[in-house]
Formats: sequence, C-alpha cells, structure tokens
Amino acid sequence: MDRIAELTHQFSQIESSIRDAEVAASRTVGSVHLLAVSKTKPTSDIETLVRLGQKRFGENYVQEAVEKIHTLCDLDIEWHYIGHIQSNKTKIIATEFDWVHTVDRKKIASRLNEARTGEPLNILIQVNVDLAETKSGVAPINLKQLAEAIWALPNLRLRGLMSIPDPASDEDLKRAHQTLKSLFDELKDSHPTQEIFDTLSMGMTNDLGLAVMEGSTMVRIGTALFGARPPKDSV
Ligand SMILES: *Cc1c(COP(=O)(O)O)cnc(C)c1O
Repeated sequence: MDRIAELTHQFSQIESSIRDAEVAASRTVGSVHLLAVSKTKPTSDIETLVRLGQKRFGENYVQEAVEKIHTLCDLDIEWHYIGHIQSNKTKIIATEFDWVHTVDRKKIASRLNEARTGEPLNILIQVNVDLAETKSGVAPINLKQLAEAIWALPNLRLRGLMSIPDPASDEDLKRAHQTLKSLFDELKDSHPTQEIFDTLSMGMTNDLGLAVMEGSTMVRIGTALFGARPPKDSV
C-alpha cells in the first residue's frame, strides 16, 4: 500500500474506533475530538490527513513543530503543543501554537500570558494523576490554586485538563482517568463566571476506548494513525 492509502485506512479506522467508543459509553456522537499526534512524522503525512478532513495536530518538540507550522501555514490547522515546556521556549510556544496541553506551574503560565498577543491561548493544565515522582504535571492538591491563577491571566483561556498516566495495570489506568474526570468536574462547578471549560485531553493509542468511557473529550493518537515512531520518541 502506498503511504496515502495507508494513512487513509488508518484515519478511517481511528474515526470509527472513536465513534464506536462514544456509542459504547452512551456519549453524544461527535463529542470526542481526535488530536493527531504528528511528532517525528513528515509534513506530507500531515497534508494527507488535512485533505481527509483532520484539523487538530499535536507536536512535542518545539523546533520540529515550528518548521512544520511554517511549512504548512496555508492549511487550516489547529496546532497543539503537548510536549514538556522549558521556560526559555514559552515565547515561541505562545506565538506559534493555538493550544498548550502541558501547563503545570504558575511561572510557565505567566510567561505564556506575557508572550501571547491577539486571541487568547487555549490552555490545559497537566495533572499528575498517579503522582509518579519522575513525571510532570501539577499534583491534584495544588490544581485549584493553579487554575485560579490562570483564570486571572487575560491572554490565556483555561479550557480543561490533561494527563499522561503511567499505570502499572488496567485498573490503575481506569482509576487515573476517573481521578482526572472528577477533578475536571469539580473545577468546572467551582468556576463562577462559566467561562468555557470543556476539554478533557485523555487517552492515547492504547487506551482510547477506556478514556472515552471515562469522559475524555480529546484523544491524542500517534501510533495508531501514523505507525510506530523511533523508540526514543515513544512519548
Ligand atoms: C506521543 C504522545 C502521544 C501519542 O501516543 P501514541 O501512543 O503514539 O498514540 C499522546 N500524548 C502525548 C503527550 C505524547 O507525547
């Protein structure tokens, strides 16, 4: 199969997996968005998917992403930054992307806010749901305070939460998803002005169905869509 046929096939498989998962979870059909995680993949793959109707793309590496964003600037793409944020990269991230999924501290939020001009930058807070010591993400106990800090920043629009759980078992994974969903609901209820707060970025290739069952509104899919990446890049 040539590359275009392969991507076309994988894209339609993923779309139907998402629709099946929505039905299985008694969710509204169309309520879960696909974020195509295109890190390490060529711009030609992205162009193919755009032609098939895909709009949201996620990237992890700033330099690689910026080159792609510039190359594809004529296409209607919403760019999501899903990698770790170094503070010396906040300016370029705030300038080039539409969404950032991995904000986990106030200092980073303030720097993104200072650098952003025009439309507010859509923000998700990354939560360390399983409290793994080596991982990024705010601890659940500090989440509300960080959300309030972000709500006060005019150039950021807090849209929801994100997690990258690293579970030992399916049970742990399910618990991690349930934790994120309940933190999301609590925060949504506690926010007085009803600013749009609508996104739960949860689920990847291996746990798409489970994540949709537990309330995800955006699944981040790389491998199932584009094929395997070099080992060092597997997240
Ligand atoms: C790479 C990556 C993904 C995609 O993972 P797959 O298992 O290939 O679907 C999703 N989210 C984040 C944060 C990633 O870094």
